Amino acid sequence: MSISSGRVIVVGAGIVGAACAWYLMRDGHQVTIVDRAGVGCGATAAGMGHIVVMDDSPAQMALTRYSRQLWNDMAPQLPASAEFVPSGTLWIADDAEEMAAAEKKAALYKSCDVDAVVLSPAELYAREANLRPGLAGALLVPADSVIYSPCAAAWLVNDVCSQGGILIKNAEVKAVRDDCVELRDGRVLQTDISVIASGTSLAELLPQFPVRARKGHLVITDRAPAFVRHQLVELGYLKSAHATEADSVAFNVQPRATGQLLIGSSRQYQMQSAQVDHGILQAMLNRAFYFMPSLKELGAVRAWAGFRAASPDHLPILGPVAGMAGVYVAGGHEGLGITTSLAGGRLIADMLAGRTSAIDPAPYLPARFAAGSGRERWHHG
Ligand SMILES: Cc1cc2nc3c(=O)[nH]c(=O)nc-3n(C[C@H](O)[C@H](O)[C@H](O)COP(=O)(O)OP(=O)(O)OC[C@H]3O[C@@H](n4cnc5c(N)ncnc54)[C@H](O)[C@@H]3O)c2cc1C
Repeated sequence: MSISSGRVIVVGAGIVGAACAWYLMRDGHQVTIVDRAGVGCGATAAGMGHIVVMDDSPAQMALTRYSRQLWNDMAPQLPASAEFVPSGTLWIADDAEEMAAAEKKAALYKSCDVDAVVLSPAELYAREANLRPGLAGALLVPADSVIYSPCAAAWLVNDVCSQGGILIKNAEVKAVRDDCVELRDGRVLQTDISVIASGTSLAELLPQFPVRARKGHLVITDRAPAFVRHQLVELGYLKSAHATEADSVAFNVQPRATGQLLIGSSRQYQMQSAQVDHGILQAMLNRAFYFMPSLKELGAVRAWAGFRAASPDHLPILGPVAGMAGVYVAGGHEGLGITTSLAGGRLIADMLAGRTSAIDPAPYLPARFAAGSGRERWHHG
């Protein structure tokens, strides 16, 4: 189906809904954004804002690389409040085995036209003096960046509204139909197209999609300018991010434009409460102190937890919903939704316009979760 300038309702004003709305507005659609709270209040406020190319699968590489390019292209337009910093990522190798993994990763990145440089220990310490001695080296990915995602989402939504779009806050969507969206307060909004970007609540509106919440904690420190200069992630992160059921922690530190540091990361399933879990928080901090002992000298201002919306194959779900004419989904972005929001929004806009996309949208299509495909099930391990 291709539609040039219809009425579009985007459900969810997180970074994903905001990005969809922005690209659809640019295509000339009349966009209304509906959120049961406000702009960027969900996972978008809880996340870390690391814009990063990842290589778990060719599809993930294609989407993250494309989206990073879109963020880098958008950067000059972003307001200062979005705190876009082209920090680069340093993937830290703890030992020789991880250094071998860094070299493999560098070769893969280069084969995909992603700049990546292997650093010796001396080159690593010249860049990040506060890391513990004895590390094996690192992989530098210079074009990665960090952003303050709630403000980036607000800027996208404001831009949509400045072009005639409408934002309806504090309005919960109860049901989505082919030609309308029903609100909890009884209002019915007619539409040609709806795009459901409701994050971890996706299954409330579209229960056919097997999205689960994966809890994560973060700590923010007081100001320590230049204590860390790059986003630092241990290469062992890749092991913990892949653990499907078990709780896991990894060293992941981000310098904020304010001079503060964000310290992560943790991953847990089967958690309902957003309360801070002090056991996993301590494990996460211990991991950070292992790589950077002098972090202990900084004061922690606040700790919080949020939820990532995870799909079984760790790829977002982007495109038309089978059996519901005019309904599209943009969900399941897991721990990469800040990174992949722009590419996802762009792909959805391309689908509506009947345009060929810069990357193949097939791996992200909702049809892979059709009943009986086997992809809809969660596999343990
Ligand atoms: C601890 C942590 C660290 C992270 N770090 C990173 C990172 O470094 N890099 C990265 O790329 N990603 C990261 N992420 C992931 C990223 O934050 C998410 O993937 C992204 O924010 C998802 O955006 P969203 O718009 O889909 O969801 P949300 O931001 O949750 O937005 C969904 C919106 O939908 C609204 N909504 C839900 N149901 C309804 C309804 N029925 N009616 C109306 N409105 C509704 C909600 O109010 C909400 O505003 C992290 C996540 C966590 C938790």
